[in-house]
Amino acid sequence: MQTNFSLAQLADPEIKEADSIFRRCVHCGFCLATCPTYLELGNELDSPRGRIYLIKDMLENDRPASAEVTLHIDRCLSCLSCVTTCPSGVDYMHLVDLARERIEKTYRRPFGDRLLRVILARVLPYRRRFRVALSFARFGRAFAPLITKMGRFGERMQAMLELAPERLPAASSIKPGVSVTPDGQRKGRVALLTGCAQSVLDPGINLAAVRLLSRFGVEIVFPKGEGCCGAIVHHMGRAKQAKRFARANIDAWMEEIEGEGLDAILITASGCGTTVKDYWHLLQHEPAYAEKAQRISALALDITEYLAKLDLPPGERASDLVVAYHSACSMQHGQRITSLPKSLLEHAGFEVRDVPEGHICCGSAGTYNILQPEIAARLRERKVRNIEAVAPDVIATGNIGCITQIAPATIVPVLHTVELLDWAYGGERRDFLRRRVEAPPS
Ligand code: SF4
Ligand code: SF4
Repeated sequence: MQTNFSLAQLADPEIKEADSIFRRCVHCGFCLATCPTYLELGNELDSPRGRIYLIKDMLENDRPASAEVTLHIDRCLSCLSCVTTCPSGVDYMHLVDLARERIEKTYRRPFGDRLLRVILARVLPYRRRFRVALSFARFGRAFAPLITKMGRFGERMQAMLELAPERLPAASSIKPGVSVTPDGQRKGRVALLTGCAQSVLDPGINLAAVRLLSRFGVEIVFPKGEGCCGAIVHHMGRAKQAKRFARANIDAWMEEIEGEGLDAILITASGCGTTVKDYWHLLQHEPAYAEKAQRISALALDITEYLAKLDLPPGERASDLVVAYHSACSMQHGQRITSLPKSLLEHAGFEVRDVPEGHICCGSAGTYNILQPEIAARLRERKVRNIEAVAPDVIATGNIGCITQIAPATIVPVLHTVELLDWAYGGERRDFLRRRVEAPPS
């Protein structure tokens, strides 16, 4: 794609990077066929190629974001399916990040939209605040008929309330500053990201990871000062806030690295994994953090990547459970981890089935299912239809966002991959497994 940036514009490193991304695009349109919003809406402006043109026009002409640009960029899930498909290696991820930042700086959204975004950015990434907000969600549901009358703001508030769990699990027993010593001889030492939303919505995921890792000789540390990875606000264009979270995490992990050392930084939410692996890019222009961010990104691994290195034995519990593996977009497109979680589950004794249209997003995408509830609901329906077509006993995935999005729409239980692995290697049973294994349906 030909570009027309002036030399002065190209002196800005972000514009220079955008220019080189645009130049790789050959307009072929292959990406359209795998873009969920293009498939659902059928509008070229809601496709990767259409969005690239919109961003190029905005940046080349040094214009503030228009209502049109904002509409179509907001509708993008940042699922990165287009990146996997693109034969020219167009780095759409960093381009759309830049566009979102520009929108945040130059476009004045309607009041309700601004208010909702501020609430999300000030609540979701903070464990305590998020927990308090969820405990109020129960009362909020009683006002649903009133809320839905509040126009677009009301629709989104309603979507948020519907995603909140009926019952809040007990607060996580994992405390910052602690470490868990392994059973038997120590084979490794890792930090496990506790993050934000996942540890409130389902603290059992990281507890399963801790049990599994320590059973296989790995020491796990939870450094003080670690928290949200920054993904939620980064996808909303709030780069400054995202960088603050990244720096805090880097400081916390560097202290461990320079102390007893770390073999890896493990992440059980693939959305967070994609972000931490990209810290090197986020902080590349900050001399005080660029090198440290590179070290952290190099150490960051999805939990399944680390488990694969442990050379686990076959699962202890023979199981006839059929698992539909739902690969989160951040797992398959963001981190390019595709067969590894399925191989681990099969090795552990499960029958794993691929989901048709597995490359298409479930509509979760960070705060997308709150900010774009109509499209998210269509994608969820499509995803659940495809999952149920393989008749699974259980759905496994590696991202809390997908669990929250899919679970309310199906009677099939949705678990994190690591919870199933923990069970297969002698860990606690979740209720549904007890029912299924001890009293199989007649
Ligand atoms: S990130 Fe996903 S929704 Fe956005 S343009 Fe690419 S394929 Fe489409
Ligand atoms: S597939 Fe890649 S090169 Fe082709 S139009 Fe899409 S982004 Fe451009």
